[in-house]
Amino acid sequence: AAKNEGRSTIRTFEPVMLYDRQLRTLMAAELRDAIGSDQLCVHYQPVVNLQDGAINGVEVLVRWEHPTRGMIAPDSFIPLAEEIGAISDLDRWVMATALQQYAIWRAALALPEHFQIRVNISAIELRQLDMVDFVRGLLKRMAVPPESLVIEITESALVSGGEVETYSLLSLKQLGVCIEIDDFGTGYSSISYLRRLPVDMVKVDRSILREPATGSWQPDFVAAVFQLIRAAGLGAVFEGIETRDQAEFLRTLGNVSGQGYFFSKPLPEPDITELLRAGGYLSTNLSDQYT
Ligand code: C2E
Ligand code: MG
Ligand code: MG
Ligand code: MG
Repeated sequence: AAKNEGRSTIRTFEPVMLYDRQLRTLMAAELRDAIGSDQLCVHYQPVVNLQDGAINGVEVLVRWEHPTRGMIAPDSFIPLAEEIGAISDLDRWVMATALQQYAIWRAALALPEHFQIRVNISAIELRQLDMVDFVRGLLKRMAVPPESLVIEITESALVSGGEVETYSLLSLKQLGVCIEIDDFGTGYSSISYLRRLPVDMVKVDRSILREPATGSWQPDFVAAVFQLIRAAGLGAVFEGIETRDQAEFLRTLGNVSGQGYFFSKPLPEPDITELLRAGGYLSTNLSDQYT
């Protein structure tokens, strides 16, 4: 039809839309093939106990090493995976890869005490009726204690969740898995759910550490967010820590964990393994800071 509408119409609308649609279809097919192939990999970002600077866990973050487009960040293909119904396969592949790696570490080196492996799951995966069975089976197969696994679920997924989501959360909790609200503070106004949902920890979105207009940060505001989480009886993790100031201030708040470029970027497997083998402390910088 567009072909008959005259050249100007085609020039103004069609090329962009057609390009998008074609690219989308192409990438959807490529993504389907990539899942489970060696094009997908995961990186691991250390999560640090701010009291003593020890690594107390890692967050597992998926990466797509596209053969021609280069490394693609998850923000640009997770939504696509959700749209095409491939997110469950992706999330399960990541979780299996992560727990397998955890099992290898546990056998090969002395992991820090209370070390936790953290994976992200999509709202859609939380809605799968067999999700909890999958997690239970995986933990068993890999001989991973449930409390060593943290499942991160975004605030938006939790708040908009219905019966199935609540059932999944309660079943995971019963299993002994640790549940964390991710991206806390990104705009889903009701804070009452903090006390209502069966969650253990809250990961504060990195935008909270940054004042919107100036990009600077407001310690009082950050402290108030921390107090809120503690008052709800939950553990607090701050993400996006980029400066020493932020790390030092957060440390004064109390029992807080954190991650961010100040400590370490997400690392490929050999690098994180090396770090853990070396004792799970990040750098001489850090030990200076914490003495
Ligand atoms: P997230 O779960 O909130 O993960 C934190 C993101 O912040 C990561 O981006 C990490 O690389 C980035 N980050 C860490 N420290 C800093 C910092 O100091 N400054 C800044 N500016 N950024 C920092 P990444 O790896 O691109 O992941 C983006 C999002 O994609 C994740 O946000 C998560 O929502 C999603 N994602 C990643 N892996 C998976 C997965 O396996 N499954 C699902 N469903 N989602 C995933
Ligand atoms: Mg996360
Ligand atoms: Mg987050
Ligand atoms: Mg995020």
